[in-house]
Amino acid sequence: MKEGAGFIVHRPFPVPGLSYLDPILLVDEMGPVRYGPGEAVGAPDHPHRGFETVTYIIDGAMQHEDSRGHRGVIRSGDVQWMTAGAGVIHSEMPTAEMLRDGGLMHGFQIWVNLPRERKMMQPRYQEYESAALPAVSGDGRWVRVLAGEFEGRRSPIETVVPTTMLHLRLDAGIRSAFRVAEGSNVVVHAVDGSASVDGAHVNRYEVALIENTQGTIEIEAGDSGFDALLIAGKPLGEPVSRYGPFVMNTHEEIAEAIADLQAGRF
Ligand code: MN
Repeated sequence: MKEGAGFIVHRPFPVPGLSYLDPILLVDEMGPVRYGPGEAVGAPDHPHRGFETVTYIIDGAMQHEDSRGHRGVIRSGDVQWMTAGAGVIHSEMPTAEMLRDGGLMHGFQIWVNLPRERKMMQPRYQEYESAALPAVSGDGRWVRVLAGEFEGRRSPIETVVPTTMLHLRLDAGIRSAFRVAEGSNVVVHAVDGSASVDGAHVNRYEVALIENTQGTIEIEAGDSGFDALLIAGKPLGEPVSRYGPFVMNTHEEIAEAIADLQAGRF
């Protein structure tokens, strides 16, 4: 699937038949793709309203710029948690360096919904370099805590909806338990290798989807280890009305978002 100006994404959802896993609205794995000089592409100016976009870069770099004057570069291991709230218009583009020289690009964009009463909140950014994010390693495990908590290590990112987001790597045959809030919906997206996730076999580019978890996800890596993103969120249980980059509760609110965008109110 192609997104933005034509970058390749692997998207478990939204797809026909699964539009979201409350409160997770979208999961895109960008790449991995190795660009030659002049080949890198991104997503030029586009709006968002009513939810949060999370960008996590595994390899490469991305330059971000928005209608409110915020700009920055996120690189390998960094996270940008952008609360679009009432609305931003932004671009997510390759850095000048990536555009000139080419290079490996690999990352994720995840959309997390906002509850009705926070959809029109003031937009905000939380950006953390990899060094500022807790990581746990040893005994064949490596876990970077992007949001929420893992074995007592807590991410500095504040989430509106209780959310856990972990980048995890397990060596071959290693088994580990991952605690998330009870009642969460969970996505385990395989980046590399394979594993058994709560008893379900998952290969590269596949996901395990777990609804209303009791709170512990058991993962056992296969013969070549396992590299994955685990995302867990407490469902909102509210109506979802989505139209492209707008995710609201009703059709009327979507119409209002379009009108506001056209009137330059973003
Ligand atoms: Mn965007």
